[in-house]
Parts: sequence; structure tokens; C-alpha cells
Amino acid sequence: MGRVYNFSAGPSALPEEVLKKAASEILDYRGSGQSVMEMSHRSPVFEGIMAETEGLLRELMGIPGSHRVLFLQGGASLQFSMVPLNLLPEGGAADYVITGVWAKKAAEEAARYGTVNPVATSKDRNFAYIPETPPPTPGAAYYHITTNNTIYGTRFTSVPGTGAVPLVADMSSNILSEPVDVASYGLIYAGVQKNLGPAGITLVVIREDLIGRHRAWTPTMLRYDIHAENGSLYNTPPCWIVYMVKLVLEELRRLGGVPEMHRRNREKADVLYDYLDSSRLFRGTADKKDRSLMNVPFVLPTEELNEAFLKEAEARGFVNLKGHRLVGGIRASIYNAMPREGVEKLVQFMRDFEARNQRNGAPHV
Ligand SMILES: *Cc1c(COP(=O)(O)O)cnc(C)c1O
Repeated sequence: MGRVYNFSAGPSALPEEVLKKAASEILDYRGSGQSVMEMSHRSPVFEGIMAETEGLLRELMGIPGSHRVLFLQGGASLQFSMVPLNLLPEGGAADYVITGVWAKKAAEEAARYGTVNPVATSKDRNFAYIPETPPPTPGAAYYHITTNNTIYGTRFTSVPGTGAVPLVADMSSNILSEPVDVASYGLIYAGVQKNLGPAGITLVVIREDLIGRHRAWTPTMLRYDIHAENGSLYNTPPCWIVYMVKLVLEELRRLGGVPEMHRRNREKADVLYDYLDSSRLFRGTADKKDRSLMNVPFVLPTEELNEAFLKEAEARGFVNLKGHRLVGGIRASIYNAMPREGVEKLVQFMRDFEARNQRNGAPHV
């Protein structure tokens, strides 16, 4: 089998152009005689790669001068701890909107260090929608949201107004998929392995004035000020991943930047959702108004059909479609790197599967 259509939720498909470019430079990065994997992170060549990566990200995301860009490790999951350890004062409280497993994990971690106000949740219907978001609790140190809920396939379609309370967002699964007004956020974080590169870096975009509010005992490696002062080179960064992120960003710019990605992502998602809405066999599980453009969960009427579908899909080169173990069913993750053709072919296969598994005309409920 050649390359497949990879619907993995993360780590996820990378643009083929990027993989080819990386392959062509793997032994000798631009005449340096070394691979980026081998060079000193203090070398001018690598420092150039870091600077270019940050520059591209600033350009593509429209990051204003008020915000710093950090390349950290530990995944988005470490940000669940770093955010409170840097922004939540002793005895302080923070607001969390609970829209799924990741949001819940973030809130649980913060509760180790202070008071968490669960200001809104969509738990009552298994996180199938985005709840109304109330204004911040007076005195809250920050207000935390998960802009795209990778497991349940929902996304925020508008930014909650939080006034002077900094808005903190986990954008792991929709970063660079649609335009974002970075200035509205105090802090944005994202593991890069969904839309930006291979696993190994967590991107943090933080407003300058929020740096330096850590607790006295916050470990050095978990302090934003340390990483900011050292240009994300306090210790050895995953150099190869920085380089891969740079290639992904270059490709994104070549294709027309974030607005063009957004247009393509909407088109791709429409192809899949339109079919799901017309199908008598498949059913999307997220509320229409809050549907994610990146992760599309759906189910068949029985567990046997789910399994048969996944098995047949895999045999045809549509892989990693199994839903998250907490939700079951099927999930197609269609990040920036998924070509429209992949989604169209998947829908073609779904139509064919439906025709072969007719439910005698009874509409599926
Ligand atoms: C994948 C994901 C995470 C976890 O990321 P890690 O880098 O594995 O820690 C957190 N939040 C969201 C929204 C995710 O999609």
C-alpha cells in the first residue's frame, strides 16, 4: 500500500510536500553538512531556523507585538499545569468552561493549585455542544476555554467576552485552521502534533504582561518568564520539530495562509457534514451549530456496523478513523493537511457502504 488517507486525531497527517522537503534536507541542511537533528541548538544555523519559525508564525497568525511566542515541551497536557502555576496566585480562583475531556483535565489540574469555577459545561449531553458562556467570576485570575474539542467534534464559533480577565485558550486541535484575533487572548497554547507538525513541541503565545506572575516555588522549567528570557532556548529544544514546524508554516503560506486554509477547511467539512445530514445510516454526533471543522465524529446504528465500517475503510486506505475510546463510533479528523480529495473519497466510500447496508428505508434515529 502506498500512502493512505490518514484521518488520525493526533499525531496527524503532514503535508506530503513537507515530508518530501524534509527528506531532501535530512542529510545536509542547506550546505551545512549536517542534519538539523545533529546540530547544536546554539549554532547560528539553528538560531536562524528558530527565528524564521517564529517570524512565520507571527505573520500567519497575526501575532501582535504585545504577545511573546514560546516553543515548549511537555505537550498541551503540561500547559494544564503551567497555566495555573504561572497565572493563578496562591488562594486565587480561575474560570473553566468544561466542553470535553481535555477541558476537564485542564480544570482538574488547576484545582490542585487553587479554586476552579466551572462556569459552564455541556456534560449533560455528553459534550455534544458548546454551552452559553457567562461573564467571568469577579476576581478570577483567568478564563479558560478549549476552542476545538477534538474528541467530541465541537468548536467555539465566537470568542467569549471576558473584559479585563485574561482569556486562556487550548487551541491544540484548531490552531491555524481559521483566523483568530490573537489580541483577544491573554494566552493561547497548542500541542503542534495536530495542525502544525510532528509531536514534540507545545506552542505558547502569551501576552507580555502575564509573564512573571508565577508562584515562588514554580519549578524553573515550568516558568514562562524563564523561557521568554531565553528565547525558548533555556535548555535543548526539540530542534528537528522546530524545523518541521517551519516547513509546515512555509507550506501554509505558499497555499495562501490562514484565510485560504479556513476556506478549504469549511469546504472539506461541508462535504462530510452534508452527507451525514442526508444519510439514513450514519449520524453525526455534535450539534450542528457547534460543529468542528477539524474533527467529525459520527456513528452507525450498531456496534457491528461501526466495526465493519472501520475494517472495510482501513482495507481501502482510509486509516485511523476509530473514534476516541471514551466516545466510540467513528471520527474523521480532517486537519489542514487532509486534502479535499481525501474527504470526497471517504464520502464516496460511505455512500457505497450505506447502499450495501440499507436499513430497509427506516430513517435512522
Ligand atoms: C490532543 C489534545 C491535548 C493533549 O495534547 P498533548 O500534547 O498530548 O498533551 C490537549 N488538548 C486538546 C484540545 C487536544 O486536542
